[in-house]
Amino acid sequence: MDRSKKIIKTGIIGIVVNVLLVLFKMGVGLLANSIAVILDAVNNLSDALSSVITIIGTKLSGKKPDKKHPYGYGRIEYLTSVIIAVIVLAAGVAAAKESISNIFNPSQTEFSVISLVIIAVAIVVKLVLGLYVKKVGKSIQSVSLIASGSDALFDAILSSATLVSAILSYIWDINVEGYLGAVISIFIIKAGVEMLLETLHSIIGERADSELTDKLKQTILAHEQVRGVYDLTVHNYGPNQLMATAYIELDDNTTAKEIHLLTRRIAAQVYGEFGILLTIGIYAANDSSAQSKAIKESVAEIVGTYPEILQMHGLYVDEQTKCVMFDIIVDFDADAAQIQKQVHDKIAAQYPDFSFDIVLDSDYSD
Ligand SMILES: [Zn+2]
Repeated sequence: MDRSKKIIKTGIIGIVVNVLLVLFKMGVGLLANSIAVILDAVNNLSDALSSVITIIGTKLSGKKPDKKHPYGYGRIEYLTSVIIAVIVLAAGVAAAKESISNIFNPSQTEFSVISLVIIAVAIVVKLVLGLYVKKVGKSIQSVSLIASGSDALFDAILSSATLVSAILSYIWDINVEGYLGAVISIFIIKAGVEMLLETLHSIIGERADSELTDKLKQTILAHEQVRGVYDLTVHNYGPNQLMATAYIELDDNTTAKEIHLLTRRIAAQVYGEFGILLTIGIYAANDSSAQSKAIKESVAEIVGTYPEILQMHGLYVDEQTKCVMFDIIVDFDADAAQIQKQVHDKIAAQYPDFSFDIVLDSDYSD
C-alpha cells in the first residue's frame, strides 16, 4: 500500500473510533451530569475532525505536479499539521476555561458503575488507537499522523484523570473534576504548542537529518572515481518530495564523457534508493605537481588555525593562470567574511605570484 493510502486508512480508523467514543462519552457525561466527561467527549470530536483534515490534506498534497506548482503539493501536509495543532490548542484552552469555572462552581455529578466501566474501556481504546496511529505515522514519516497519534495518547491521559475523578465522586462523593481538568488542559496546550513549533521548523526549512546525509554521502563515495562529496544540501517540498545537490571531487583529467556517465549513474542510484532527485556539481582535483601540493599544505595549515572553519574543500591550483580556488565552511556563529579575508591575506602573503579565490560555503548539512 502506498503512503497516502496508508494515511487515509489510518485516518478513517481514527474517525470511526473517535465518533464511537464521542457517542458513548456524551451519553455518560449527560446522564452523570459530569462536565469533565462531556469535555472529554468534545475533545474526541476534535480528534475526529483532525483525522478528517489529515485525510483532506493527504488527498490535496498527493496532487500531481503541474506547470504552476512543478514541485508538487507535498507541503500542504505541513499546513494541515498546523490546523490540527491549532485545534488541539483551542481544545486545551476551552478545557482550561471550563475546568477553572468548575473549580469555583462544582457541578453535582452522579456516576453509575456502568458509566465508570465505559470510561475505562474508552481509555484503553484511545491508548491502542494512539499507539497504532503513531506507529504508522513514524513508519511513513507523516508529521500529521504522528501529531494525531500523540494527541490520542494525551487524550487517554485526560480520560484517565476523568475516570479517577469519577471514581472519587462515586465512592467518596468528592468532586475534583475542576482541578484535574485544569492540570490536564495545561498538558493539552503544551502538546499543541509543541506540534505547532515542530511543523513550523519544517516550513521554515531545517537542517537535513544527519542519518540521511551520511547515507547519501556513503552511496556517492562508493563510486570509485569520486574522491570526496561536499556541499550536500537537501530541500523538501513535502515529507515525501526531496531534492538534493552535491559537489563531487574528481581527478582533473576526467573527461566530459566519463563525468557524464558517472553523474548519471550516481543520480539514478540515489533516486532509486532514496527517491531523491540529486543534482551534481564537479570539483577538479590536482595534487600531482610539487607546487600544488605545497600550496594545498599551506592552505590546510592556515585553515587549521581557525577552529571556526568547519571544512575546507574543492582546492584547485591552476598553474597556467596562477590562480588558486578553494571553499571554506565557516561556523554560523562566526564572522565568515572577516575570516575569509584573514585566510586570504595570509595565504596570498606566502604565494605572492598566485591569486586566491576563496568561496564561502554555508554549513547546510553534517
Ligand atoms: Zn563548496
